[in-house]
Amino acid sequence: MTNKYKYFVANWKMFGNKKSINSINKVIKFCKLTNFRRAKIIYCPPYTILSDLFKKLKNTNIKVGAQNCHFIDGEGPYTGFISAKMLKQIGCKYVIIGHSEQRESGETDDQINKKIISAVNNNLTVIFCVGEKLKEKNKNLTNKVLNNQIRKGLNKVKKYSKIIIAYEPVWSIGTGKLLSNEELIKNIINLRLFLKKIKKNFNFKILYGGSVNGKNIKALNKIQNLDGFLIGGASQKSNKFIDIIKKTYI
Ligand code: PGA
Repeated sequence: MTNKYKYFVANWKMFGNKKSINSINKVIKFCKLTNFRRAKIIYCPPYTILSDLFKKLKNTNIKVGAQNCHFIDGEGPYTGFISAKMLKQIGCKYVIIGHSEQRESGETDDQINKKIISAVNNNLTVIFCVGEKLKEKNKNLTNKVLNNQIRKGLNKVKKYSKIIIAYEPVWSIGTGKLLSNEELIKNIINLRLFLKKIKKNFNFKILYGGSVNGKNIKALNKIQNLDGFLIGGASQKSNKFIDIIKKTYI
């Protein structure tokens, strides 16, 4: 149970079509009925249905974000890419940057840093993903990896209020595997200590992501110092997503 203001970011990845947008009706209804003002819900669907989602969520408190942006600020000859400026123009408020599925397809820390700067310049709030791989965890490198990703990703970023950190252990994404609460608490404490070095008097928002579902949310929610969750698979079905939100508050 919590009284805290929490984020529930739905990362739809490469799933979803116009039809899936109708399933969000249930979430809209749920939000109206329960009046969960403390739940900050953000949908990040594929680009192809962003504008349909805007229409659907008009007049609701649910926000919309994208799953990535290009690191070039503005426009240019970059076939297949979309810039932060373009996202801003269509009304996005958030963008996920540095997701491990992007990092795995070659995205570098330097590109992530440029993307973050571009997104912040365009007044988007960045959901900045960091996380260790299993072999890094096994070598006790988690803190080093996270600190490195954060240091490089936030280099020359000034508006920290536009940054939300999403801690997602890579080995936990889509696998059903989770860290123990003790490990998660330890990693979050270390993250916060490192973030204090970046900006002394600023309390960064930190989300957890990786196999969050209706079964583990109660345990995850016991962790103080977490500001919410980045949810992949379980956010694609409205019933499952609602279940997670409900169990956070009830
Ligand atoms: P998952 O994905 O909830 O399906 O593990 C989380 C994510 O990739 O953001």
